[in-house]
Amino acid sequence: MDCLFCKIINREIPADIVYEDDDVLAFNDIDPKAPIHMLVVPKKHIATLNDIEEGDLALVGRLQYTAAHLAKEQGFADDGYRVVMNCNDQGGQTVYHIHMHLMGGRRFTWPAG
Ligand code: 5GP
Ligand code: ZN
Repeated sequence: MDCLFCKIINREIPADIVYEDDDVLAFNDIDPKAPIHMLVVPKKHIATLNDIEEGDLALVGRLQYTAAHLAKEQGFADDGYRVVMNCNDQGGQTVYHIHMHLMGGRRFTWPAG
């Protein structure tokens, strides 16, 4: 499949991987928008948030759980962090394999731009 994140999952393209289990992979964003910026992705290809099915609910929960685990492990959970999932063009999605941005190490403004 011609999907950038599937290629990273399949080790066809290198990435700075920070976490892996049977269902989830996390790696550093190539163009970080914060001192800490990782992407948490399901190994299953799901193109957008609109394509999540009922059978994926536990998997989507694992993305959030993994983000919190990484924040705790890397020591910025108590300071706080931002998680973002962009959907489709107006949401700012550029890679069509769902991913959770996990960003930390600075203060974030609200509302998001
Ligand atoms: P989106 O805009 O779809 O929400 O987020 C896609 C993210 O993927 C962006 O933050 C972008 O910097 C990151 N990205 C794009 N290409 C690569 C790549 O080849 N490697 C890594 N590690 N991140 C990438
Ligand atoms: Zn994919």
